[in-house]
Amino acid sequence: MGGDLILMGPPGVGKGTQAKALARANGWLHLSTGDLFRDHIRRQTDVGRRVKGILDAGAYVPDDLTVDMVRDRLATTPADQRIVFDGFPRTAAQADALDDLLAERGRRVEAVLLLEAPREELRARLEGRAKAEGRTDDTPEVIANRLDVYERETRPLVAHYEAKGLTRRIDGVGPVEAVTERLRDAADRHEVRS
Ligand code: ADP
Repeated sequence: MGGDLILMGPPGVGKGTQAKALARANGWLHLSTGDLFRDHIRRQTDVGRRVKGILDAGAYVPDDLTVDMVRDRLATTPADQRIVFDGFPRTAAQADALDDLLAERGRRVEAVLLLEAPREELRARLEGRAKAEGRTDDTPEVIANRLDVYERETRPLVAHYEAKGLTRRIDGVGPVEAVTERLRDAADRHEVRS
C-alpha cells in the first residue's frame, strides 16, 4: 500500500479546500487539525476551551495538545486507510512526533505536497475571506501574524522533508479546479514510482 500524504502550505493558499477534494476523489481520510480543533470548540470540550483563544489570535496550539489529538485520531484509523494530513505537522516537534506515530503503526509519509503562492496574494485572499465571512477577529494584524508564524515555524519543515526526497512543489495560483488537477498529478506521479 502507498503511504500517507502531507499537504503543506501557508494560510490562505487553499490547503483545506484542496485536501478535501483530493481525499474525496481518492477515498482517503482527510485529517485536518484545524477542523478537529474547530470541532472541539463547537462541542465545548476541555480541548475546545483551551484552544479557542489561540485560534482566534492566529497562533499555534501547543505541540503536546496537537499531537495528542492526532494520536487519538490515528488510533481509530484502519491500517489500510490512507490519510492526507492537512495543517499537520506545523512545527519541527510535530514532524518528529508524526514520524514516530506513523512508524509505530507501520505507516509512512509517501509525499509532501507543498502548495505555494506569493505572500501578497495570500494576504489579499485572507482579507477578502475575513470580509466575506464577517470574521471581525481576522484583522489585518492577525492575518499578518498568521503568515509570519508560518514562515517562522512551518517553512523550515520543508527542509526536513526535502532531505528525505519527499517534497513536491505545486503552484497554488489559479482556478481551484486547475490547482486540484496539479495536485492530483503530483500525487499520482508519486504513486506510480513507489
Ligand atoms: P488556516 O489554514 O487558516 O491556518 P487551519 O484550519 O489549518 O487554518 O488551522 C486553524 C488554526 O488551528 C491555526 O491557526 C492554529 O491556531 C490551529 N492549528 C491547526 N493545526 C495546528 C497545528 N498542527 N499546530 C498548532 N496549531 C494548529
